[in-house]
Amino acid sequence: MPPTNILLTKAGDLINWGRKNSLWWMGFGLACCAIDTIMIINQAKYDADRMGVVYRNTPRQSDLMLVAGTITQKMAPMVRQLYEQMAEPKYVLALGACAINGGPFYYDSYTVVKGADKIIPVDVYVPGCPPRPEATLYAIEMLRKKIMARGKID
Ligand code: SF4
Repeated sequence: MPPTNILLTKAGDLINWGRKNSLWWMGFGLACCAIDTIMIINQAKYDADRMGVVYRNTPRQSDLMLVAGTITQKMAPMVRQLYEQMAEPKYVLALGACAINGGPFYYDSYTVVKGADKIIPVDVYVPGCPPRPEATLYAIEMLRKKIMARGKID
């Protein structure tokens, strides 16, 4: 008689399940959005740790970059360099209007990059000025669904 608790799955699904439940993030807090979107998510009220989303402050141990705030032309090369130092597969959330398209500085500033996607690929955009921490958690949930939907090993 075979055991009754056999779990059948594909290797890709199992690996992606592991990835979605261990998103270690590196924060790129560049301005005011950093406070409301990333500094707060691992504190007691929002407790992102329960989703396996924990804070690492080195690109070599991170697979999720949270870009929050205004990206200046001067800072853009550093954002790009740290992104390139992260191991594959890696994911990016653009948090707030500034990270999406330059936000309030879109028209009048020549020093501001008009969106994180001008320098690195972005997986999920979170609008707001600033977005609520709940929006960051919702975006992480969307990213988790996106990782599982890939259904294959990257
Ligand atoms: S979107 Fe608004 S709150 Fe966020 S960094 Fe820009 S100005 Fe600040």
